[in-house]
Amino acid sequence: MKKDITIIGAGLVGSLLSIYLSKRGYKVKVFERRGDMRKEKISAGRSINLALSDRGLLALDKVGLADEIKKISIPMHGRYIHNLDGSTAFQPYGKEGQYINSVSRGTLNMKLMDLAEQHGVEIFVNHQCDTIDWKTNTVSFQNSGTKLISHSSELIFGADGAFSAARLQHQLQHDKFNYQQFYIDCGYKELTIPPTSAGDFAMEVNALHIWPRKDYMLIALPNLDKTFTCTLFFPFEGEASFEKLTTAEKVKDFFEKTFPDAVPLMPDYVNEFFTNPTSSLVTVKCFPWIREDRFALIGDAAHAIVPFFGQGMNCGFEDCRILDELIDQYDDDWKTILEEYQALRKPDGDAIADLAINNFTEMRDKTADPRFLLQKKIEARLYEKYPDKWIPAYSQVTFSPHIRYSEAYNNSLRQEVIMQQVMVKSGIEEKWDSEEIEKLILEKIGRR
Ligand SMILES: Cc1cc2nc3c(=O)[nH]c(=O)nc-3n(C[C@H](O)[C@H](O)[C@H](O)COP(=O)(O)OP(=O)(O)OC[C@H]3O[C@@H](n4cnc5c(N)ncnc54)[C@H](O)[C@@H]3O)c2cc1C
Repeated sequence: MKKDITIIGAGLVGSLLSIYLSKRGYKVKVFERRGDMRKEKISAGRSINLALSDRGLLALDKVGLADEIKKISIPMHGRYIHNLDGSTAFQPYGKEGQYINSVSRGTLNMKLMDLAEQHGVEIFVNHQCDTIDWKTNTVSFQNSGTKLISHSSELIFGADGAFSAARLQHQLQHDKFNYQQFYIDCGYKELTIPPTSAGDFAMEVNALHIWPRKDYMLIALPNLDKTFTCTLFFPFEGEASFEKLTTAEKVKDFFEKTFPDAVPLMPDYVNEFFTNPTSSLVTVKCFPWIREDRFALIGDAAHAIVPFFGQGMNCGFEDCRILDELIDQYDDDWKTILEEYQALRKPDGDAIADLAINNFTEMRDKTADPRFLLQKKIEARLYEKYPDKWIPAYSQVTFSPHIRYSEAYNNSLRQEVIMQQVMVKSGIEEKWDSEEIEKLILEKIGRR
């Protein structure tokens, strides 16, 4: 007999997980706090669009959705940098043909929910997880904030995001539960670049646009309706901060000085600045993720990370794929499946959390630094010539789904040490593509 499974949260990860499990014959019920986003006009939460890359696509492919989602995504082949002096530069993400995909969070979530129901998953909306009784594996839900409804099952997944109620219930009734929560000092606010009067995209469409300004940045991802969703990542406090931009004049003055080429493209930004929310960015690390054979955390509920590597959803989707592979391996032995899942995914969740924090500095500051760009050029050249010896960290994370995040993290540390030694060589600006530099790097790789 296949187990009855409860999933808390019908977000991106909970919905995908329900498809994987129902395809294997489990009876799956998903309980979601919000209303049905397919019927009501409600926000899909967090960012409007997301970058979907190879790890996420591989997980979607396993349930037959990758091609369909690619059709409603916009390829972004690289970073399009907007410097303060008005100059621009394009930095490819990887080799020819490698790109990430801008996709609408709402559309993707709705497609996953539709497919889940087609596979027999029951989705209960307006059900907010309140408490969990671990003796009976019973979850109590607030139904539309009033009635309390209980549901028991043999296996529960907490897929209810960064501020997971399931995780809190797990934590409150678990001896030696480790929990770490870390907010960065920047928040974010979304703004819009509408189509031009001729109905076209206002900027290069196949790129992720960045206005790097050292302590903060503006980015923009394209949408199918020819708009761009911009996100301002900005300190909460300090000289240039949300706290200081209190009037329309101050906002205008700041944007005109700081993002002069973006301002003419954003006719409503001042209004949006005051009406759109300012949200915070949290990293969550915790342990354990599981309880014997009857509970596991997955997605952001297990490992919330900051969005600077564009990997939160991709990582959560990969959780589902790895779990599915473990079911293949261990059949219905859920104790072993969950133990192995935790053993594999916890180090990877920690690694991508740290990589994502580091990438904030890279995006907001270094993408405008000529020395950093030279370093990336050297790395790209090595990747082109010796793909079995050198894969840049970004490519390992984004385009190499079979390299674990923890492996990519360790490789990135080793590579950075080598590159720091190479970048201090005198005359590196002139001889960056010489045989001498190539030989030096290959020797250093060989010595590892
Ligand atoms: C600004 C920003 C940009 C991002 N960009 C990217 C990107 O480009 N690429 C990428 O891969 N990732 C990105 N992410 C990360 C990504 O949004 C998350 O990793 C992803 O949404 C995690 O999915 P999830 O299903 O685990 O959690 P969520 O998407 O948060 O879904 C959780 C679901 O659980 C429901 N829920 C919450 N509490 C309860 C409860 N008590 N009871 C029942 N249901 C509940 C919620 O309503 C929601 O539907 C970004 C995040 C942010 C904030």
